[in-house]
Order: sequence, then structure tokens, then C-alpha cells
Amino acid sequence: MPDKHEGINQHSDKDAADCGKVPCTAPYGKLSIKTVTVHGATLFEPHTGAVSTPIYQSSTFRHPGLYESTGFDYSRAVNPTRSELEKTIALLEHGKYGLAFASGMGAISSVIKLFKPGDHIIVSEDLYGGTYRLFHEYYAKYGFSFSWIDTSNFALVEGAMKSNTRGIFIETPSNPMMKVSDIRRSGDLIHKQQGILIVDNTFLSPYYQTPLDLGADIVVHSGTKYLAGHNDTLAGLLVHSREDLAEPLANAHKSEGATLAPFDAWLVLRGIKTLSIRMEQHEKNAYRIAAWLREHKRVEKVFYTGFEDHPQYSLSKSQSRGFGGMISFYLKNRDDVPILLKNISLILFAESLGGVETLLTYPLVQTHGAIPEEMRLSAGVNDRLMRLSVGIEDAGDLITDLDGAFSKCI
Ligand SMILES: *Cc1c(COP(=O)(O)O)cnc(C)c1O
Repeated sequence: MPDKHEGINQHSDKDAADCGKVPCTAPYGKLSIKTVTVHGATLFEPHTGAVSTPIYQSSTFRHPGLYESTGFDYSRAVNPTRSELEKTIALLEHGKYGLAFASGMGAISSVIKLFKPGDHIIVSEDLYGGTYRLFHEYYAKYGFSFSWIDTSNFALVEGAMKSNTRGIFIETPSNPMMKVSDIRRSGDLIHKQQGILIVDNTFLSPYYQTPLDLGADIVVHSGTKYLAGHNDTLAGLLVHSREDLAEPLANAHKSEGATLAPFDAWLVLRGIKTLSIRMEQHEKNAYRIAAWLREHKRVEKVFYTGFEDHPQYSLSKSQSRGFGGMISFYLKNRDDVPILLKNISLILFAESLGGVETLLTYPLVQTHGAIPEEMRLSAGVNDRLMRLSVGIEDAGDLITDLDGAFSKCI
């Protein structure tokens, strides 16, 4: 363990500045992720000794003189609270550069700025509905082309490659079908033609998966989910280690202006402190509930990456350190959907995921409402699919709640 001795985290002005442009470095040596989540990139604030990162609620910063700067000029571009979060997420994802956005969609919007009209991008067909809408409804209009495919089938990814393919964007495990895509092979494939692999790592968080170690170029997060972890703020994060992308991404971040507010950055930092124990509890609970659902007479099929008979179980084991807390399942009868949603009382019927509270979602009308029917059905999102984001409550209480709601189905 590092000593909290004087000077350990005295950052130079360069360090203090925007982590999106300057490589982030830990002020203390190599430590377990369990320790880094608690302490962040900076053990304490050097001027006052504050253990909790202060919320620098200032839009602008005084310059000491002409052509002089403290490293902070204007909060859209750089803010000290946000910088601490950017350095922390970079450390957690094993990257050099971190950027914090006002939402996950803000992060994904900046990534797409790396491409130009005429470029082709391969995208997981089974992904967050908002990402689909952004790509399909906006960028497709500006001359970008997308192939929406089942990226858990690597032969399909290979088959979709074209001479102008410049990117592969995957969610793994996918939302909501829990399909797992091969990060290493996707990276090797796209690098053959100088493209980039982007992984949306929202579902596992860096506690269970670090895609940059497996060859991904960019990791994006909806920090709203497991990283913040308490269903109380929106945030987006992006991490990479590519020198050539540092300037374009930092520029997109500050030019588009979807940068994270200081208070929200503080909430995410606070959430990250307990990431490791939360992820472990989410996973324990999810495993128990998935096993219980699988035996239930009203459930047709359960999708959970932690089942040994999940089609990509061994791939999961080879690229992730855990299975996370997300489950989806098909009910046998469509008619049970409204009854279940009406009769759960502890579990809340709401969109979103990754918080301490267990949420039940109906993807067809909520998270995946933006995706056209044909594509949704081909991905497996039918009118009997439910998605459960398992929280950290007592698993027995959650099962009792589900059981009670199921008992109302006729
Ligand atoms: C929620 C989510 C997003 C979008 O993030 P916001 O913070 O809601 O903008 C992107 N990807 C995945 C996998 C998500 O679950």
C-alpha cells in the first residue's frame, strides 16, 4: 500500500490538465482494481488534504498572467473534478486517456466523429436502442454505412468486412440477448485494414472486463449504469491508449460540449469506490435468480452468460473475469407480461440497469423501442422478452417478489 506521504500526488500542471489529451498516470504504483476504485487516481486533494475529491463548481478559472494557465481554463474543456474521474476510469480500463461525458450517448457520439462519410462500420445487431438510433437515423444520412450483424458469430463479422470498413462496434455481452462477441479476433480483423475496434463495456464494467487488454482501441461506457451504480446520475465515459486518437477525441469532447458536470463527475467517482463489492453481489444474486427462473414453469428460456451451457461460455471465461448481473428471459405466454409488470412490488418496472436497485425492463417498448420490428425479431427481442438488472438486495427477497408476481398469472 502506498503511504499517504507529502508529495505523493503532487501533480504538475500538465498532469492536472485534461486527461483526454495528456496520458493519465497513477501517482502510486501498480495496485489491485479493488484499491484503485476506492482511491481513484489521486489519493487526496493536495491543497487541503480532502479525502473525497472536491466538487469544483466553477465554470471558469483565473489565469495567473498572459499565456499562463493553472491547467484549467474553462469547465467545458477541463474541470478538476471531471479530470479526476477521467484519470480514474483510464486507470481502471488500463488505458492512457479518459474522457467523461454527460451521458453514454455523448461518448458514443464523439467516437463516431472519428469516421468520415464513405466509411463502413460493422455493428452488433443486438445493442442498446439509442446507439442504433444515433447511427441509423443520423449518421446513415451523412454517408456513413453500417452492417448490423450478430457479432457473436465471428464468421458473420468476417463476411461483413468490405474494403471501406473502418470500424467494428460491439457490445459484449450484448443488450439484451447476452450474446458474447470475441474481442481479440474482432480487433485482429479490423486492424488488418487500419480500422478501430470500439467496445461498449457497460454490462461488465472494468471490474469484470478490460477490452483494451484484448486489443480493443476504444472502450465506451454508459457510466449511468454500473460505474455510477445508484440510479442517480447520467454519465458517459471513454478510454483509449492511441496517441493518434488523443487530439481528435479530446477535440470532439470539448467541441460538442456534452461534457460531464462537476457534481455528476463526483457522483460517478463516489459510485466507483464500491464498484468491486457491488459487482460481486450483483453477480451472486444474478446467478441465483437465473437458476431459479430457469426452473420456473412460466419461463421458456433464460439468457445468462454464467450458465455453463451458454453458447459462448468458454469465450466469456477467456476474455472476462465475471458474468455480471444482467439476465434476460422469454416468458412462455405474452399475456403474462403485463401481469408480471403490475405485480412486482420490490422489483421496480423501469428502464436502465446497473444500479443497486433491481429493475425489470420490457425491451420491446423500452430500451429497444427505436429498433425496427424485423431487426428486433432477428436479434431475438420479441414480445415475451423481459430483462432483469439484478441489484444488490437480498436474493431471497427478490425471488419471493418474482414468485408472488408469477402467482398472479393465469
Ligand atoms: C444505457 C446504455 C447506453 C446509453 O447510455 P446513456 O448514459 O443512457 O446515454 C449505451 N450503451 C449501453 C449498453 C447502455 O446500457
